[in-house]
Amino acid sequence: MHRLTVKTGQRTEMLDVTDRVQNAVAKSSVKNGICCVFVPHTTAAVTINENADPDVPRDILMKLGKVIPPDTDYRHMEGNSDAHIKTSLVGSSETIILEDGKLVLGTWQSIFFCEFDGPRSRKLWVKVIGD
Ligand code: ZN
Repeated sequence: MHRLTVKTGQRTEMLDVTDRVQNAVAKSSVKNGICCVFVPHTTAAVTINENADPDVPRDILMKLGKVIPPDTDYRHMEGNSDAHIKTSLVGSSETIILEDGKLVLGTWQSIFFCEFDGPRSRKLWVKVIGD
């Protein structure tokens, strides 16, 4: 398993980690199979979405913030329930097909690390499994 570190700079942020995941795949000997990307945190997530227009991740974060505001009547004492809820909705893992050592993604797709309670130093785990 490859253990990557992701440093985030804002409370909520979507960082394109596609190249870093691809590098982890390249370090493995696997050419064909699947790649599992896992975020071992309760206030950060991973998703796949459009990389071409930066307004797409911006709009995702904006709408998540409106649907799940930070200042509702939450009981969790840590004060970051919005981040926990966003993490459960977005999800902790993605599975990507590998062909000839490359991640098989759609033309406009990238893998985004989603920070919901930063800035922090985070972990991103990548497991590559051959056919
Ligand atoms: Zn918490």
